[in-house]
Amino acid sequence: MFPRLTPDQIRRISSHGHRRHVEAGEILVEAGAPNVPCFVVLSGRLEIVQHDGPVAHLVTSPGPGQFTGEANMISGRRALFQIRVGEAGELLELERGEVSALVQMDAEIGAILMRAFILRRVQLVTSGVGDAVLLGSPHSAATLRAREFLNRNGHPYTYVDVERDRDTEVLLQRFHVGVTDVPVLICRGERVLRNPTNQEIAECLGFNDAIDRVHVRDLVVIGAGPAGLAAAVYGASEGLDVLVLETASPGGQAGSSSRIENYLGFPTGISGQELAARAYTQAQRFGAQVLIAGSATELMCSRKPYAIRTDAGSVVSARSIVIATGAQYRKPDLEELSRFEGAGVYYGATQMEAQLCTGEEVIIVGGGNSAGQAAVFLGESCTRVHILVRSSGLSDTMSRYLIRRIEEHPNITIHNHTELVSLQGEEQLARVVWRHNQSGVEERHDIRHVFLMTGAVPNTAWLDGCVAMDAKRFVKTGPDLSKEDLLAAHWPLARIPHLLETTLPGVFAVGDVRSGSVKRVASAVGEGSVAVSFVHQVLHE
Ligand SMILES: Cc1cc2nc3c(=O)[nH]c(=O)nc-3n(C[C@H](O)[C@H](O)[C@H](O)COP(=O)(O)OP(=O)(O)OC[C@H]3O[C@@H](n4cnc5c(N)ncnc54)[C@H](O)[C@@H]3O)c2cc1C
Repeated sequence: MFPRLTPDQIRRISSHGHRRHVEAGEILVEAGAPNVPCFVVLSGRLEIVQHDGPVAHLVTSPGPGQFTGEANMISGRRALFQIRVGEAGELLELERGEVSALVQMDAEIGAILMRAFILRRVQLVTSGVGDAVLLGSPHSAATLRAREFLNRNGHPYTYVDVERDRDTEVLLQRFHVGVTDVPVLICRGERVLRNPTNQEIAECLGFNDAIDRVHVRDLVVIGAGPAGLAAAVYGASEGLDVLVLETASPGGQAGSSSRIENYLGFPTGISGQELAARAYTQAQRFGAQVLIAGSATELMCSRKPYAIRTDAGSVVSARSIVIATGAQYRKPDLEELSRFEGAGVYYGATQMEAQLCTGEEVIIVGGGNSAGQAAVFLGESCTRVHILVRSSGLSDTMSRYLIRRIEEHPNITIHNHTELVSLQGEEQLARVVWRHNQSGVEERHDIRHVFLMTGAVPNTAWLDGCVAMDAKRFVKTGPDLSKEDLLAAHWPLARIPHLLETTLPGVFAVGDVRSGSVKRVASAVGEGSVAVSFVHQVLHE
């Protein structure tokens, strides 16, 4: 985390930045400042300080040969801490753009800086030291959503459970908020948000401050799941000016997977969140920008360059577009479903949900691979996992290796021909009723956690009228487009659409949102990268 650079490495860095003399006590960066530079200490000492009201905590104090900075150096987010001078001396100061250029040009120094930035951020996230405090309750769906948003965006924060911590009451009184306002987010000890939306959290913590929404991009990618992040990594690494729009957090569906075991190159598996975090950092390292909590609401396809309207009201223009909006879980028709979402009903089984149901019984609805993975994962910490399957078994829908593990697991029970018919409880799910769909027999169980993993519908509402879709509203591309599709869409070019190209020239669809796609991380990543090679051709057309 805190390596010391050699004189030769410092000499190579010095051609990218400028020297600066500093005096003891000088403030170089205030917490919350945008566009934080990186300082390499040549002599003297710096102090990285976290302010908690009037109290200042020394986080670390880099000396000669050491450097400042963490992940916000890559993402362009605001400074988490104050940087001040402890002992007078000489520094090398590098602006963010100079750090990016250095990382691209000098592989050895690039690796040292990137590793330190990432490890420092991981340390901050793990120890909950940052510029945000979240006060929430484990029984509140909005708290779960806010925590997931912060976790998946890798933002360090301190979490206070209002139901366990007596001091919280005092803290809440200090900021004049009632216990019913949870979750409450305090940004940099200044702004207080009551039950904020993801967009408000992103705005308060400055996730998107460094992003220019005005100029026309070579490529705008919609969706930062594996497919969209792959398009961003390949596009940006090949010199394209790339902007990614993401409704929630990078990682998409894969980000909610507890362990992906079949992705090439990870023989012991990798959690979806870890894979997403690596891909997100990689995309940013190559210069792609990712707008967090910014949904595409409309594709303005009758104008050139194309434009995309976002839910924040802004319009971004693009010479080419990759649609990578994936799909969303299908929701069963259960009366009280929305009331218990996040309060007993979940759509992903990550470490966070597992903690909520440790030592309890859980239900998984669905017979696909995601249901199987969740069952094996939760089987380790829950007393019993019930898998409810509508059909006569798992063999048609689940990979053989997962079926074997489930069958051998002592804590997992499969209930064939069984459907959930009722969810009951007050604030938190307390019990469920399931029914055998052949005998009609109903059973009531005091089970407080249900994981719904019942397939998905594509996120394509924002594309209405612009591109050809199949009967289930997945986007049709390349060889799947019929002559009739092209005629109806007034396809204007002499050539036929490229592989992955939609009925709009220069607009591609990749990953789960594409009609006929294989619903896998590897295929989503592959399609994202392939689309970029066609983007180059289209931009030269
Ligand atoms: C629990 C679980 C476990 C899984 N395990 C495996 C596995 O082990 N191996 C495997 O190969 N596959 C696995 N999968 C499947 C795999 O995750 C998907 O196939 C893959 O994530 C598809 O990637 P994608 O980028 O196409 O779409 P997604 O991952 O769905 O990403 C789409 C992204 O687009 C965003 N978005 C949607 N609409 C908009 C909009 N209007 N504006 C901006 N952004 C938008 C979404 O928020 C999302 O982040 C699993 C899936 C789940 C849910």
